[in-house]
Amino acid sequence: MSEVKGMQQAAEAGSQQAPGSPAGSSLFPTYARNPVALVKGQGSWLWDEEGNKYLDFMSGLAVTNLGHAPQEIKEALVQQLDELWHVSNLFRIPGQEEAAALLTANSHADAVFFCNSGAEANEAAIKLARRYQQKVLGSGRYEIITFQQSFHGRTLATLTATGQDKVKEGFQPLPDGFKHVPLHDLEALKAAIGSQTAAIMLEMIQAEGGVNLVDPAYLKEVAALCEEHGLLLIVDEIQTGMGRTGKLFAFEHYGIEPDIFTLAKGLGSGFPVGAMLAKGKLAPAFGPGSHGSTFGGTPLACAVVKATVKAIVDSRLPERAAEMGAYLRQKLEDQLLGSSFVKEIRGRGLILGIECGAAVSELVTEAREQGLLVVTAGPNVIRLLPNLLVTQEEIDQAVGVLVSLLSRQGAAAKV
Ligand SMILES: *Cc1c(COP(=O)(O)O)cnc(C)c1O
Repeated sequence: MSEVKGMQQAAEAGSQQAPGSPAGSSLFPTYARNPVALVKGQGSWLWDEEGNKYLDFMSGLAVTNLGHAPQEIKEALVQQLDELWHVSNLFRIPGQEEAAALLTANSHADAVFFCNSGAEANEAAIKLARRYQQKVLGSGRYEIITFQQSFHGRTLATLTATGQDKVKEGFQPLPDGFKHVPLHDLEALKAAIGSQTAAIMLEMIQAEGGVNLVDPAYLKEVAALCEEHGLLLIVDEIQTGMGRTGKLFAFEHYGIEPDIFTLAKGLGSGFPVGAMLAKGKLAPAFGPGSHGSTFGGTPLACAVVKATVKAIVDSRLPERAAEMGAYLRQKLEDQLLGSSFVKEIRGRGLILGIECGAAVSELVTEAREQGLLVVTAGPNVIRLLPNLLVTQEEIDQAVGVLVSLLSRQGAAAKV
């Protein structure tokens, strides 16, 4: 295509652009993008194409848990690039077996299915729960109960599982077999359970939904209900897993062992990969031909998973996340809880939410303009997701920016 035609098309496309899509872009306007192009990353820092530097406290949404361009992961990937990129799952893949063995050695799970994203991991979990109930137990159960404000992904089944209407608008009809109840309402949960119920699925911290922590006593009741009614307990660890909360998996804080749990974001340090893990009793439900993914668990992805899991476990990064998270939280509490604008600071380890008295999207933009990247979790919550190797100096810098922005809001609110 000639340059002139390209420009004309871009201009025409630009004139029909939905809000949020940069003029002249050939992309769907699915994201409300920041007008910033990040082109380089190292550790906790990112640089845009104009050379501006940013302190990254969102980590690509809890993905780059080891910081940007971590050396040991890069080495594992480069070594694998020299050997083999892709082979069909119709063959044994030793790297995939090793990655699975590392994950099962570091959890109560016995079996792993690799895929490419969080939504796919949850799809696999939903399919496994149904198939186990129907093929192994012969119970015919199919319904999954999930919670309001949850987030489980964007495929048809996982957006249906998600407890937020905004992800469902315009996508009807939705798949059958999902029910939502308010979190922490035990009577509503009991009332929702019936002879068709196959599983209960939840996040230990509703991350997208506002950094809402599950109450330990409530979770014990949920686990007991699963036991009593023969339901599977599915935990979505896609955002909370891989050390972020101070344990390798957030359910470890609660002393429960879910039948199924899902991973993605931090699992590949930025390489796209997801995984669904389950107790051994569920393995027969996914026999040959029952489920699959062309790209699930390629040699490249598994080289990255192995290096990532080893780095997190060997360097005790969950403990580090707990310590650094406590340091960050203390600083925020000391300097912000007096502000009339800040309602609550909550979270665990290095996933923290600052709940404010009004919408925070403009504050997030201002933070970016001052060189700090953070993200919202619902309209009123600023979510902090630094990498697990973040330093105290970096935390001090980030807190400095947040305190100056938020105390100004507090002062404005008092006027
Ligand atoms: C991000 C996320 C997902 C979806 O993951 P994708 O890789 O975007 O499909 C599902 N559940 C939770 C809790 C998440 O944070």
